[in-house]
Amino acid sequence: MTDRRTAERIAEFIEPLRVEPGSRVDLAEDFDPRYKAGMKKRDGVELLRTGVELLADYQARLAAQDTWGVLLCLQALDAGGKDGTIRHVMSGVNPQGVQVSSFKVPSAEELDHDYLWRYARRLPERGGIGIFNRSHYEEVLVVRVHPENLDRQKLPAEAKGPGVWERRYREINDWERYLADNGFKVVKIFLNLSKEAQRTRFLKRIDLPEKNWKFSAADIRERERWDDYQEAFSDMLSATSTPWAPWYVVPADRKWFARICAAAVLAHTLVELDPRYPTVGAEARRALKDAKRRLEREAPGGAPRDPYAAKHHDR
Ligand code: ATP
Ligand code: MG
Repeated sequence: MTDRRTAERIAEFIEPLRVEPGSRVDLAEDFDPRYKAGMKKRDGVELLRTGVELLADYQARLAAQDTWGVLLCLQALDAGGKDGTIRHVMSGVNPQGVQVSSFKVPSAEELDHDYLWRYARRLPERGGIGIFNRSHYEEVLVVRVHPENLDRQKLPAEAKGPGVWERRYREINDWERYLADNGFKVVKIFLNLSKEAQRTRFLKRIDLPEKNWKFSAADIRERERWDDYQEAFSDMLSATSTPWAPWYVVPADRKWFARICAAAVLAHTLVELDPRYPTVGAEARRALKDAKRRLEREAPGGAPRDPYAAKHHDR
């Protein structure tokens, strides 16, 4: 169980990253990709370990109950560090309780449905954590920067006309509110990378043969649209950070710091939900006692009646 002080410290730590619902975001002005809260990398190692342990505890409790589910959406520009963040932040949790879904260019089947269909199919179940590696937000990011994607979506003419992005923001907000109202908490992280850090990471992918597979020529073409993406991200953050599904802008130039922030955002979400292990009622307790007596009677000669209790005197 996390004490109140820890919960407060996590909340304070992530507060500067949260996009205040209703505020107007200008990424370049408002969020520094190099921010690190005055921390040093070596303090970060210990902190991330603490965060990962906390997440493991909370995920076990989330999995034991059957009311809440959590959806974490991760967005970033190329080389923003989504994969590494997922790998590190989720390193301590039980894989059975987590489902990671990556969204690429939509397939022909996906284009034959409404634009939220493929995301809805990958939502977590109650007790589960779903992670979207890219998410329904691509529908107002890459689709906006490259409108030919919208043409491929086979929409009725009115649905791609003027006001399409405002309408999509509203539809996404409504969808997330529906999920939140029905037990599924949505939390969203944007890994905010600087243009210079992206250049360095691309060059590393080119220079190291074992990283070459991660690089594609398309990455350079997308980089040329940097300013358009910054604008699309700023608009999207302004319109879709809501009290029921807030955005957090995580500084991503330092991977170690980004991972701590992502762990803290997820931990905060779980702490707020406060999932509890189900307790059993009086009747079930009587049945447990009865079963215990029967098992104790089966103890072979010389064996303790209850080996577990014998080892743990407090039971
Ligand atoms: P990596 O970081 O390893 O490169 P990735 O998430 O970039 O992983 P890729 O296969 O390189 O995966 O790229 C997926 C591509 O799919 C991205 O360029 C993204 O913009 C695009 N994409 C995702 N959703 C949509 C969508 N709804 N419409 C069009 N393109 C999309
Ligand atoms: Mg890519």
